[in-house]
Amino acid sequence: MRNDIYTDLLALEAKLMECREIELQIKAKEQMQRAFEQLAVPQVNLLLKSDLQPWEGVDSLLFRVAKLNHLLGISQLKIALDMPNGAFYGQLSNRSQQLQKCTGSTTEALLESMPVQGETGIVRLGGHHLAAHTLSLKTHRICPLCVRDHGYARVYWGIAPLAVCEEHGCYLLDKCPTCCASLGDNRPELGKCRCGTRFDDYSSGPASTSATALAYFIAALYKRHAVSSVRSGRIEIERLASLELNELLKLVMFLGSISSDRKGMTLNLNRRVVSMCLVRQHFERAAVGLSDWPRGLFSLLRRARGVSSRQWTPNSVYGSLIHVHDLAMDKLDCNSFKLVSEGVSEFLSSPQAWREDAVVEPQR
Ligand SMILES: [Zn+2]
Ligand SMILES: [Zn+2]
Repeated sequence: MRNDIYTDLLALEAKLMECREIELQIKAKEQMQRAFEQLAVPQVNLLLKSDLQPWEGVDSLLFRVAKLNHLLGISQLKIALDMPNGAFYGQLSNRSQQLQKCTGSTTEALLESMPVQGETGIVRLGGHHLAAHTLSLKTHRICPLCVRDHGYARVYWGIAPLAVCEEHGCYLLDKCPTCCASLGDNRPELGKCRCGTRFDDYSSGPASTSATALAYFIAALYKRHAVSSVRSGRIEIERLASLELNELLKLVMFLGSISSDRKGMTLNLNRRVVSMCLVRQHFERAAVGLSDWPRGLFSLLRRARGVSSRQWTPNSVYGSLIHVHDLAMDKLDCNSFKLVSEGVSEFLSSPQAWREDAVVEPQR
């Protein structure tokens, strides 16, 4: 019996030694991996450098320094720096040191200029914690007028549901208007397509007043600036004041996808909608929904109710809007769900609102 205990203790001691050994090995491996990553990130020390402009994105900065150094576009530069094409750059801890050496910008400014992977499903951008599906991480967007007037692109244009430049009130572009190629790393300049089209000669079309006001509101929240009620127009900012940027973006995506087709609406809410032709429609619809509260929302709910009928009863109207309410509960945060839910209740108790003709959406 005694011997058995002694043997057990010895086995335990051996096991403990083995565990310590493994732990040391893992630590050594991690140390080696870090040292390797440090060495494996290539350095490019460009002759002429530039600082990031206010709210500028890292790709825009790379385009500008490439041009300063007479490089054609940023493809070669990105290959030399071993950067992913069109994805986001926050995976490597030493990426900002590498970019600092290449461009001359400070580490703090660089971190504000690119999305960084946070905990699961969360991306950090400009100090905000955003759900990954609220950002378009693989497409490039520009406002042709900003590129013409300021010479750089803003980082928050990568917010997936945002379709409008708040300064110029025009739509953002994600494709060349001539050859329809997506704006990518392979264009020669920030504002020029490889087919030769200059985007600053092109008008992307004016957005509606409420869509511009919504874009202004989103940009102000992103920059943490005070919101002016004059520039936010018919969008009722008091009602949205309790929402954080992430909540507002999810609400915009929700309102933009409201339709009578439950399956289509679910699909739009479960995938990342980034193509600008669809984002424009959704953004305009969300702007209608948030303006002139609750009348704007009522017009979206009439749309969701489907085919018009003079025989609506409270029960049939409720039945036709259940999917909107269910999806709001599933997809929205507490405050924005409360807002939508109150709007739906108000709609149900206003028979007058059921009969008005649906607002005709601008076709663009
Ligand atoms: Zn602009
Ligand atoms: Zn083109």
